[in-house]
Amino acid sequence: MSTSNIKNDVFQNISLTAVMNTVLDGLIIIDYLGIIHAFNPSAVRIFGYQPNEVLGKNIKMLMPEPYQSAHDSYLTNYLESHTPKVIGIGREVKGRRKNGEIFPMDLGVNEMNVNDMVMFVGTVRDITERKASEASIERYITALKQSNQELDDFAYIASHDLKEPLRGLSNNALFLKEDWGNKLNEDAIKRIDRMIYLAGRMEQLTNDLLYFSRLGKQDLAISEAPLEDIVHDVTSMLDAVIVEGSVEVKIVNPLPTVTCDIIRIREVFRNLITNAIKYNDKPLKKIEIGSMENNTFFVRDNGIGIKECFYHDIFRIFKRLNTEDDATKGTGVGLTFVKKIIDRHHGSIWVQSEMGQGTTFYFTLPQGLKDDRNTTYYAH
Ligand code: ADP
Repeated sequence: MSTSNIKNDVFQNISLTAVMNTVLDGLIIIDYLGIIHAFNPSAVRIFGYQPNEVLGKNIKMLMPEPYQSAHDSYLTNYLESHTPKVIGIGREVKGRRKNGEIFPMDLGVNEMNVNDMVMFVGTVRDITERKASEASIERYITALKQSNQELDDFAYIASHDLKEPLRGLSNNALFLKEDWGNKLNEDAIKRIDRMIYLAGRMEQLTNDLLYFSRLGKQDLAISEAPLEDIVHDVTSMLDAVIVEGSVEVKIVNPLPTVTCDIIRIREVFRNLITNAIKYNDKPLKKIEIGSMENNTFFVRDNGIGIKECFYHDIFRIFKRLNTEDDATKGTGVGLTFVKKIIDRHHGSIWVQSEMGQGTTFYFTLPQGLKDDRNTTYYAH
């Protein structure tokens, strides 16, 4: 039978009682005084009352305070002014079971006319389980936020407090070399130099850690930003590197205006573009920047590539895939910063690569982001 042949006359063949007995929601019919006229099996299951215990009684018996006291005046108000709070709208309220237990429920009420008498039919859905799982998700989120905050605080304090003894160490090594250098042999001098270098490197790492924890603590300053301008800013800052290393940076399709923290997103592009140049062994280093659907952007290079087994590791703090000789190239934090910034914009970042051929970093920047200073901006 085609749908067009189906007539909406099934109700003529099915009794109202059959429907009332079958629906999963509790169905309760009351008159304009609030007296219960019908109470289906689902309502029995939800409230724990048998029909004979509620029929002819006021609906208020199924409500806790303050709904109970307010109900009479609510019905009167509705009948006089027809301004509904629940009727025709539906909302979340509290119900009371026979055993006294108060529970959350979704209530929908509609008015109907039966033999010229105003009646109301209410549908009741027990949402105790849904509310409990919502509350437990809420608790997990709060605990997670707190533990993230504590981690950021810890990183901040640790890196801040480590800086002073570290500088002391480095200064003392320098003094040792200056004051006693002429009494030490070449090997001893080499070791002192190594100590100074390592202390400097550790200072760089603590600074990075400090910056990383700040990224988690500071509010984003969201505004509308033309991505194209941001990329031009970055490439003009990298001009010397670009000329020196024979680099070609191309924006392959127009980049839109997005809502983001400009300074942070500039940092994202700076890191990705610098990496595309650094980890590139080709005589002409080609970098393509572009946008795709769903607010997805990419930075593509023709560099050395990344093995698939490292696709996740590279975003870990201090993780580098290169040997010690490359140490001057970085500390292994760039991509960690990038990921943190994208995370804070509620976006995601991932990588695709082919060894020897090149790498593409993709990231999304969802729109309509809320500014941490309570203003919402939407992109055009
Ligand atoms: P850093 O550049 O300071 O080492 P990053 O966090 O920016 O730190 O990058 C982590 C590692 O990921 C790098 O050491 C490098 O091995 C690898 N990597 C990052 N970007 C690229 C790229 N475009 N091509 C190849 N390897 C890359």
